[in-house]
Amino acid sequence: MDATHDCIIVGAGPAGLGAALYAARDRFRTLVLEKFYPGGQIMTTDRIENYPGFENITGPDLIEKMSNQATGFGADIRTGAEVTALARRDDGLIEVHVDEEVLVGRAVVLAPGSTYRHLGVPGEEEFRSAGAGVSYCGTCDAPFFKDKKVVTVGGGNTAVEDTLHLAKFAREVIMVHRRNEFRAARVLAEELMAYVNKPDSNLSLELDSVVTAIEGEGKVERVRVRNVKTESEKTIDCDGVFVFVGMIPNTDFCKDFVELSEHGYVKCDPAYLRTRVPGVFVAGDCRVGAAMQLVTAVADGVNAVMWMKQYFRDPDWWNQGLTDELGPGGW
Ligand SMILES: Cc1cc2nc3c(=O)[nH]c(=O)nc-3n(C[C@H](O)[C@H](O)[C@H](O)COP(=O)(O)OP(=O)(O)OC[C@H]3O[C@@H](n4cnc5c(N)ncnc54)[C@H](O)[C@@H]3O)c2cc1C
Repeated sequence: MDATHDCIIVGAGPAGLGAALYAARDRFRTLVLEKFYPGGQIMTTDRIENYPGFENITGPDLIEKMSNQATGFGADIRTGAEVTALARRDDGLIEVHVDEEVLVGRAVVLAPGSTYRHLGVPGEEEFRSAGAGVSYCGTCDAPFFKDKKVVTVGGGNTAVEDTLHLAKFAREVIMVHRRNEFRAARVLAEELMAYVNKPDSNLSLELDSVVTAIEGEGKVERVRVRNVKTESEKTIDCDGVFVFVGMIPNTDFCKDFVELSEHGYVKCDPAYLRTRVPGVFVAGDCRVGAAMQLVTAVADGVNAVMWMKQYFRDPDWWNQGLTDELGPGGW
């Protein structure tokens, strides 16, 4: 079977749509396979202020523009199409399996994104947007909580970094962590403690504690917190809750095809976004070293397609790896 497409993109989030625009506009036969509907994670937010060119736009509005732009240049976006497996054939083409159907591409861009881990407590789903008060991204949403009181949850690197970031905006921040020591790198934990111990610090800790419920009328007004050692419970009034308990990359379907990190992110050569499998690139939040932002996901998609052209010109380029030592994002 010959290639049905030049470029098959897995996932129609920002990374996949960025790739689709560049591939289709370059006259490549471009197919985007999306298991739900276009947009990915950003569809659930009503306020984006950090995508260049738009001072303020909702996720759905931005995605509509991105999708229309890509399809306007000829990209085919197929929704309800979940990729379940991939394989590389001896002739170098890539098979992409969607249910019983096998599509064949000259190159593939993996862009299935990641999913924020949830607390799974009452109220979390109900208030899940920065406007209502539950957020998973400090960089994205901290400015919306200027002079407000917020609770953060978690104890890893992101939790510490984003809590310190939030403290620059919020009037008061209370960090809830289920242990009494931090999983975060020591340098970050030290920075956190130095900030907490400053005179008149606006940041305090609730250690050995978990959030058991998020409550309010139409928006977050308080959280319930339980101390796991004493079993005592208390209520903390607040305007928002930031959940920093990790991310799960959506890479299960390709775990036997490309190399994954111990946490499930796709390993790649960070300069060219090549995986170990010739013809298969990776883009966006699912890759090792991703910045987990809209603009970086889009840029990844674009970069993957720029290097895809180099691969089409010279397939041997794939193994000319000059970037193995470029750091933690490496092969
Ligand atoms: C509530 C919220 C607010 C945010 N706000 C901001 C913000 O203000 N600014 C900012 O820069 N970032 C923000 N982010 C982060 C930003 O949304 C992500 O960094 C970005 O969406 C990552 O894009 P992506 O394309 O890599 O992945 P995703 O957005 O996760 O998209 C991946 C897509 O792939 C699909 N998919 C997964 N597996 C398969 C499969 N097997 N087959 C087919 N399709 C598949 C998924 O359904 C999804 O549509 C926010 C995130 C959230 C959740």
